[in-house]
Amino acid sequence: MTTDQNLVLAKQLDRDDPLNKFRSRFYIKSENTIYLDGNSLGRLPIKTKALLSEVVEKQWGTELIESWNRYWYQKPAQLGDKIAPIIGASEGEVIVSDSTSVNLYKLAHATLKLQKGKTKIVSDTLNFPTDLYILQGLLKEFGPEYKLELAQTADGITIDTEELKSIITKNTALVVLSLVAFKSAFMYQLEEITRYVQKMGALVLWDLSHAAGAVEIELNKCNADMAVGCTYKYLNGGPGSPAFLYVRKDLQEKLSSPIQGWFGEALPFEFDLNYRPAKGIRKFLTGTPPVLNLMAIEPGIDMINEAGMATIHQKSIRLSEFFLSLAETELRNYGFEVGSPAKPEKRGSHVSLKHDEAYRICQALIHPKTSRIRIIPDFRAPNNIRFGFTPLYTTFNEVRLTAQRLKEIIKNKEYEQFSTQKSEVT
Ligand SMILES: *Cc1c(COP(=O)(O)O)cnc(C)c1O
Repeated sequence: MTTDQNLVLAKQLDRDDPLNKFRSRFYIKSENTIYLDGNSLGRLPIKTKALLSEVVEKQWGTELIESWNRYWYQKPAQLGDKIAPIIGASEGEVIVSDSTSVNLYKLAHATLKLQKGKTKIVSDTLNFPTDLYILQGLLKEFGPEYKLELAQTADGITIDTEELKSIITKNTALVVLSLVAFKSAFMYQLEEITRYVQKMGALVLWDLSHAAGAVEIELNKCNADMAVGCTYKYLNGGPGSPAFLYVRKDLQEKLSSPIQGWFGEALPFEFDLNYRPAKGIRKFLTGTPPVLNLMAIEPGIDMINEAGMATIHQKSIRLSEFFLSLAETELRNYGFEVGSPAKPEKRGSHVSLKHDEAYRICQALIHPKTSRIRIIPDFRAPNNIRFGFTPLYTTFNEVRLTAQRLKEIIKNKEYEQFSTQKSEVT
């Protein structure tokens, strides 16, 4: 296709997009900045901006401590109930608390206690490092008989499900997997894996950080045991917004949080000196939440519920397929290689391209010296550029412009003007 034909097609896709009205509900300072990093930090919803001023001035500033009863105290559970439909869970099964890392610790610890006698934890080498670090820490805590075994990847992109299954044995207490892998976007079949893990007598803990708000997830339908995930990625909750945690209803009574903080206590304001866990999902709370970050989560998830996950996932697939088709027709001869699964049912909402000059190409996209279009994806070592597509605000025309810029950067060797020295956060 010619450049003009691509433009016509992109404009048509944007006109036909059932979600096209949502973009204007985000704060977009410049139409010349194409933001493709919503999988790391979602854009700011305009409502959140106004809400935060209200939380600061009216709630904290004016109503002071009374705001706890009026607005804040029930918020972790209220937000949990609003996140539930986004991940296919029910009321009373999700709560907002701590970071994803801490939630993973709480649930993995609780599972090892429950599964006493079983000493193996299974994960994979595509998992986000913090998950593996937390599990390595648990091994030290639980003793030398505990082992962590990781399913390997042959191509750096996917995990062979059969290989994963082969390391889940009768001695396995817990399987911890990211539904969508952070580098390649590889996505597991949640139902198939969940069933297999349970058949082997283990529990499964899904990390939904790169999946929630981007792909359809059916935790209840698949009978999933536990899940955790970030709210600052596709849920657009803002930098450092607290994470969510899901435990299937019938498991809640069986699991105990290892961090017995007062927010998870039955009646915290009785200040009883002996801990009694709260009933239900609330027992997985720890201490006082970061209220400003907590309150900022709501407008983003309200929008996702309004749009509906089925429509969001469909658009995510269309955006990624459009990008992959442009990569095939426009970028084939420029040294790029697709670093994500080809089939949409095996992929989350980002696409990775591999290139020997990935880091400097990324720099040229972010800091253009000649083009007026600035594109923000991110770089993941050793040679991946991740392009995150957020269905509520990414347009097909932005996808088209991104492919066009990639071609220009290579053709004109724009990346040669940048250093290979990396900054602290990439
Ligand atoms: C982003 C991400 C995290 C981050 O965890 P924090 O505790 O919020 O820093 C964890 N797991 C996965 C899979 C992620 O993508």
